[in-house]
This record gives sequence, C-alpha cells and structure tokens, in this order.
Amino acid sequence: MVSRARLITVGDEILAGRIQDTNSKWLCEKLTEQGVWVEKIVVVHDDVEQISGEVIDAIESGVDYLVVSGGLGPTPDDVTIEAVAKALRRKLVKDPEVIEWMKKKVKWLMERGYLKEEPNVEEWKYVWVPEGMIPIKNDVGLAPGLLCKVGNTLLVILPGVPKELQAMFTKVAKEYVKSDEVLFCEEIKAVGLETDLSQYYKELMKRFPGVRVGSYPRLPDEGGYITIRLYASGRSEEEVRQRLSRAKEFLKSVLPKVLE
Ligand code: ATP
Ligand code: MG
Repeated sequence: MVSRARLITVGDEILAGRIQDTNSKWLCEKLTEQGVWVEKIVVVHDDVEQISGEVIDAIESGVDYLVVSGGLGPTPDDVTIEAVAKALRRKLVKDPEVIEWMKKKVKWLMERGYLKEEPNVEEWKYVWVPEGMIPIKNDVGLAPGLLCKVGNTLLVILPGVPKELQAMFTKVAKEYVKSDEVLFCEEIKAVGLETDLSQYYKELMKRFPGVRVGSYPRLPDEGGYITIRLYASGRSEEEVRQRLSRAKEFLKSVLPKVLE
C-alpha cells in the first residue's frame, strides 16, 4: 500500500484571506516526491476544538503521516500544542532538552545585543511539550517542532514560518518519511472540451486499473489547453513507470488533439 498523509494547517490569517497557505503546497510537493499519497489538507482556525478534532479524526483514519503546522508561537492565540495534547490526552510537561536549546538561543541573542536582560526561559511557553513527544530542534527560529508515533500515525508538528517549517520537515523526512511504494506522474497537454474528453479518461481507467487521472483545464485567455496528469503507484519502480507510459501512449493515441 502507498503511504498516506494528511496535512492540518492552522491559522486565522489563512482563513481570513490575509496569507496564502504556501506551506501545504510545499509539503505536498515534498511528500509526493517521496512516494507518499497526500489524501487531504484541512485548514482550521487557531482553535483548540477544531485542531484537536481534526487530529483525532486523522489518527483514527490510520493515516501514516500527519503534519500539523502553524500556531506554535508564544502568544495566547497560538494554541496548537495545547490542542495536540488534548487530542492525545497527554499532559503538558516541561522538556529539559527544549530548555537547553532556549538557553543557547538566549545566549546567542544576548551576545548580539538583541536582549537587554536575560529572560527566564523556563517560563517560556515553548518549553511545554505533550508528554512523550520528541522535540525537533529549530535552527532557524525559536519554536521547536514535535514528533511522535500514535498508532499507525507519525504525527509531526511544525511552526508556520515557511523557512522554519521547511528546514525542520527536511530533517524529519530524511529520517522518517518513506513509502513502501513509489508514486509517479505523467503529463499530457491536450485541446478539447472536458465533457468530450471524459469518455477517453473512462476508457483509460478501465484498461489501466490503478492509474488515476487528473484533468486541469485552462481558460481560453490562459492558453485554452487541458493538462492531463496520470498517477500510478506500486512496489516496483520499473513496473509503475511502464504501466504509466503505456497508459500515456494509449491516451495520446485516442485523444483528438494532443499538444505534447
Ligand atoms: P511564531 O512563533 O512565529 O508565532 P507559529 O508557528 O505560531 O510561529 P504562525 O503564527 O502560525 O506560526 O505563523 C507565523 C507566520 O508564518 C505568519 O504570519 C505567516 O507569515 C507565516 N505562515 C504561517 N502559516 C503559513 C502557511 N500555511 N503558509 C505560508 N506562510 C505561513
Ligand atoms: Mg504565531
């Protein structure tokens, strides 16, 4: 079976249309490259009930990877950690490793004159971690990420700041993210009305079971063509590549007008 992932993006700012959720796009790209099938992205408010509800739902579904991002900061509107603790029914405990990291960050900041007085990092919100979760070091900013296995699910919590999220996910993915299966995609550009082309998609799916078809039309002033993407997964790279290339050749042979 191909590994499955879900993403939960947290942020009032996204749902108010103030910022765009580019983190999900980036994560989808990276997971897909690793052969993981991203089945769902959910965007929720900075709200304990919403976040914990989605976390529980994803874990119950037995998904292999669940990435929750955003809302790890120190302000009262950042409630992701609290929500995860609630979903997992775990207490929040002070993490000695995070305290050490924070002390080092403070030292760095003091030496460069960013801080006048030394704060007591033990009072920082960052040091509270749901019991048993492993902190992920943040080399770019302050908020640590978190990681743990719950049932079948590897749960990864990351900060919303894109540079921080990317650096931390890259580290985690190297060690933990893999799929038993590979996932590949082939692309065709064609011209025509989707209503007319769908008969060929149906025929393709009948002839090549397991090949998924995505059809993405552009408006006439954007070029007017349709990008057709074929996806397939399986244990053998060679078998999947061959199956996809046969499917692509078949589609090209029946479509009325193919661009490339
Ligand atoms: P911080 O410690 O900075 O508060 P955080 O984990 O709480 O980190 P957020 O408060 O959710 O992160 O977001 C901080 C900033 O990161 C946002 O203002 C926005 O600029 C950017 N950001 C957050 N989420 C996303 C996202 N999904 N896509 C792109 N940028 C994002
Ligand atoms: Mg924040």
